[in-house]
This record gives sequence, structure tokens and C-alpha cells, in this order.
Amino acid sequence: MARHDDFNLTVPELRALRDAATAALIAIDARLIDVERRLAAIESSGRPEPRPSNGLIWMNTAQASKFVGKHPTTLLKALEAGELHGHQPVPRGRWAIHVDCLDAWVRHEPCPRHG
Ligand SMILES: [Zn+2]
Repeated sequence: MARHDDFNLTVPELRALRDAATAALIAIDARLIDVERRLAAIESSGRPEPRPSNGLIWMNTAQASKFVGKHPTTLLKALEAGELHGHQPVPRGRWAIHVDCLDAWVRHEPCPRHG
């Protein structure tokens, strides 16, 4: 069997090498397409990365304000308008806000707890 001068490989060996390299390229390409698709889905949704709530399920206005990075007054207005769900056991008292309600409000999405 003649050996190729440049690679010191036979033609069948060169073909096998080419086929292996082609298969590797196709695999990398498929992976790249998958990554691009996932990135596009995340970026087009416009969803912010979830922030840690330090394990808090129920928050007062100050805690909720920190969690979503909005001014407490903004939260109070939304609570009083009923846009943000919260419980106020005592009239004009402290609000208790569930993390799911807060998350839905920030995302402008229907609340999973209240429909
Ligand atoms: Zn709710």
C-alpha cells in the first residue's frame, strides 16, 4: 500500500482520519446549535436571573424591596393598588408578601398562587 508523503499514512488511514474528524465536527456543531438555541430562549424571554431570597417565603415590605431591588414605596403602592398580592392582618400594619406573588409581580406574569 502506497504511503502519502506528507502524512506517512496510507489512503485508507487518511480516509478513516478524515471520517473521524468530520464526525467530531458534526458533533461539535450539533452541540453549538443546542447551546445557541438555549441561549436564544433565555435571552428572548427577558427574564431576569432569579435572585436568592435567603430562604424567605414570606417577606415584609423591607425584605421584599431588597429581594426585587425596588423602592419600598413602589411596593407599597402596588400592594395598595392590589397589583402585588400581600396580606395585611392589621389595617395600616405590616404587609406579608409571599415570594411567589412577588416573583410574579416583578415578571408581570399571572400569580401562581392567586391565578
Ligand atoms: Zn399572589
